[in-house]
Amino acid sequence: MDHLHQAFSVRFTYTVFFTEQLFNTNNSLLAGFFSQQATAETRKKLLFVIDSGVVATHPELSATITEYFAQHSDFVDLVPELLIIPGGEVAKNNPDLVEKIVDAVDRHSIDRHSYVVAIGGGSVLDLVGYAAAISHRGIRHIRIPTTVLSQNDSGVGVKNGVNYRTKKNFLGTFVPPVAVFNDSQFLTTLNDRDWRAGIAEAVKVALIKDAVFFEWIESHANELAARDMAAMQYLIHRCAEMHLQHISGGDPFEMGSSRPLDFGHWSAHKLEQLTNFEIRHGEAVAIGIAMDSLYSQQLGWLTDADTNRILTTLRTLGFSLYQPMLDADNSSGVLKGLSEFREHLGGQLTIMLLQGIGRGIEVHEMDADRVRQAIATLKEQQQQGQLA
Ligand code: NAD
Repeated sequence: MDHLHQAFSVRFTYTVFFTEQLFNTNNSLLAGFFSQQATAETRKKLLFVIDSGVVATHPELSATITEYFAQHSDFVDLVPELLIIPGGEVAKNNPDLVEKIVDAVDRHSIDRHSYVVAIGGGSVLDLVGYAAAISHRGIRHIRIPTTVLSQNDSGVGVKNGVNYRTKKNFLGTFVPPVAVFNDSQFLTTLNDRDWRAGIAEAVKVALIKDAVFFEWIESHANELAARDMAAMQYLIHRCAEMHLQHISGGDPFEMGSSRPLDFGHWSAHKLEQLTNFEIRHGEAVAIGIAMDSLYSQQLGWLTDADTNRILTTLRTLGFSLYQPMLDADNSSGVLKGLSEFREHLGGQLTIMLLQGIGRGIEVHEMDADRVRQAIATLKEQQQQGQLA
């Protein structure tokens, strides 16, 4: 049979830097990065897109960035207009914002050798990464994550995207950033909900892969809840490291059906939608982890003691593990999340459960009655907690 065969691979590398005060003119990390990226042929431009929630809590930020690049202008040209877009999930639900970023790429003639630099939480980073990926078939993007969740999970990975008709991440691409700069100083202005929400992703990765890390979170839960920065920096570093190892070690662009890092996520994504995105992603993930831990307990895979340790750790961190929309047991209720999760993944339904702390195990079906039982247990425990 006459045919032509094609095969090639493309290597991706990027570094996640940890720093403080990234835009302090005495901090040469960013300037040093651009000097290494410089080429003789072209000068590169930088288009900044910034989360409005970050600007509100760091009002000096735009001026600081402008000052930084006035002093470090040897290798790059800062686009004078710093684009500010709404922060939070609302950003991923608003198609006009994709166009706004693409339009800025066009107006400022950002080509594929220049950079779009996103500063913000996971929502803004997902949106900007997507807009950059579809502009000119892919403009280099740099991420400066400003929340716990984006520093330890979403910002260090390879995915971006926006919601479509309220379905999470329906539009998106797999495109690694060229670099990530985690500046712990941004975390100081997070409200308690956003400080806490990202910890759920660390609990998630610890539970499926690393019992020692889970024990560390368990024994530092009070410090983390009390906003101890040293504990948080350790948590972010270890969690980011585990995400990076997972991505490079397996299926970075999720070609197969398996998606272990989405432990607790099948219900979380649905719950976000059911609550009209009032619940934070990380808050929904904490509930999803609790549900799937109780489900694993019902299967006899997780001991009662270990199940309690997980639920207690999540509660000590400050998470509420029940949400009334979990009771919407109809055709569009949380169980619908299973089929939507499968559809989003493609292939066979694959859900991560626990066979012990630090040991994930995949299954290909979920029993609706057991899910309902897990929800009932969470509801009951919540009511008991309120009475106590
Ligand atoms: P977020 O981006 O929705 O931000 C929450 C709020 O914090 C917003 O109001 C924002 O303006 C504000 N904020 C951001 N930084 C701040 C700061 N330093 N100080 C004060 N306020 C600040 O929340 P998130 O938890 O970072 O991200 C959640 C999103 O990440 C969800 O859309 C989720 O689906 C996505 N996500 C993506 C991946 C991925 O692989 N791409 C992985 C996990 C989660």
